[in-house]
Amino acid sequence: MTADRAVPAFPLLATLCLASVVACGQATRPSDRPAALLIELFDGATMGTTYTVRVVSAEAWSEARRDRIGTRIQMALDDVESAMSHYRPDSEVSRFNETRSTEPFTLSPATFEVVRVAIELSEISDGALDITVGPLVNAWGFGPTEPETLPPDADLLSRLRARVGFSKLELDAAASTVRKTDPALEWDLSSVAKGYGVDRVASALTEEGVTRFMVEVGGEIVASGANHLHGPWRIGIERPADGGGIQRVVPLSGHALATSGDYRNVREVAGRLVSHTIDPRTGRPIDHHLASVSVIADTCLLADGVATTLEVLGPDEGYALAIERGWAALFLMRDGDTITSRVTPEFDQLAPAGATMD
Ligand code: ADP
Ligand code: MG
Repeated sequence: MTADRAVPAFPLLATLCLASVVACGQATRPSDRPAALLIELFDGATMGTTYTVRVVSAEAWSEARRDRIGTRIQMALDDVESAMSHYRPDSEVSRFNETRSTEPFTLSPATFEVVRVAIELSEISDGALDITVGPLVNAWGFGPTEPETLPPDADLLSRLRARVGFSKLELDAAASTVRKTDPALEWDLSSVAKGYGVDRVASALTEEGVTRFMVEVGGEIVASGANHLHGPWRIGIERPADGGGIQRVVPLSGHALATSGDYRNVREVAGRLVSHTIDPRTGRPIDHHLASVSVIADTCLLADGVATTLEVLGPDEGYALAIERGWAALFLMRDGDTITSRVTPEFDQLAPAGATMD
C-alpha cells in the first residue's frame, strides 16, 4: 500500500525503521522563504520489511499521477518478492528449492541477474556470501520453518553443510537457466533481494520521467538527483552502541548504499544472541566484533551483496577484501561499549568525513 500524501519538504526527519540508517533530513527552512519544493512520499510493506520512496516535485501531483507512480512502485517490489521470496510457496526460488531434479531450471531474467551477481560475489569471497546457505539459515531459526531443536547439533550442521555450496550451481546465461548438481541444494536470496528491489523501483521511477528521488527498502537505499534543497540526499549511518546517534552522514546521489548489521535481526539461542548472518565456512552465525558494514556501489543489488559478504568476513578479512577490490565500505566495530570505525579510501572519496545532515 502506498500512503496518499504529498508533504512539505520540511521539516522532515524520518527514522527508517529496521534500517541501520536514519533520515534523509534537512535544515529547517528560514521562515521568510516560501516553500519551493515538495516531497511526494510513498511507503508500505514488502519482503518482510518496509519501504519508503521520496520524490522531489515542484508542485503537488495530481491524484492520477500519484496513483500511477504508487502502483508502479508497489508492482516493482511485488514482482521481486513473488519471484525471489522463499516464504512464497509459488516463487521461482521456492520451486527451485523444491525440485530434486538436476535438469536445467529456467529463470526469469530478473532472478538470473540476482543469482549471477550473488555467485560472482561467492567466487570473489571464497564462499563467504553463498545463496545456497538456506538450509543452515533455517537450522538457526531464521527461515520460513521453525527448527525442532535449537541450537542445531554438530551432526546436523555437518550434514547440512554438505548440502551447501555455490560451486554446485551451473548457470547458463544464453539459456537463462540454472542447474543444481546436488539435488538437495536450496537457495536463500534474502542477502540481495532487497537491494535488487530498490534498483527495480529506481528504474520504474526513471521510466516515469522522475529524476529526483530516494528509494529505501529495509535500510538499503538508492538516491538520484538533488534533494529538495538542491543538494545530495543525506543518509545518516547509525552508531550501533556508545549511546546511539549518527556515526557518519553519507551524501548520496546517483549511487546506492546498503548496510548489514549484527544487531537488527538476532534471536536468542541457548542464552546467546545470534545473528541471522551465517558463515557458510563454519555453518554457524558470525561471531566477531563487526557491528555493521555499509557499502556504496553503483547498484543496490551489488551494495547489498557486498555488505553481506563483508559482514560474514568480519572486520579484518572483510576490510582486506574491500581494499583489494576497491569497494567503498565503512566498518563499525564494537569494542566494549564503544564503537571504532575503519573506512576504505573509496568510501572516503564518495562520502567525505564531516558531512552533516543539513
Ligand atoms: P540485512 O541487510 O537485513 O542485515 P542481509 O542483506 O545482510 O540482511 O542478508 C541477511 C540474510 O541473508 C539472512 O537473513 C539470511 O536469510 C541470508 N544469509 C545469511 N547468511 C548468508 C550468507 N553467508 N550468504 C548469503 N546469504 C546469507
Ligand atoms: Mg545484503
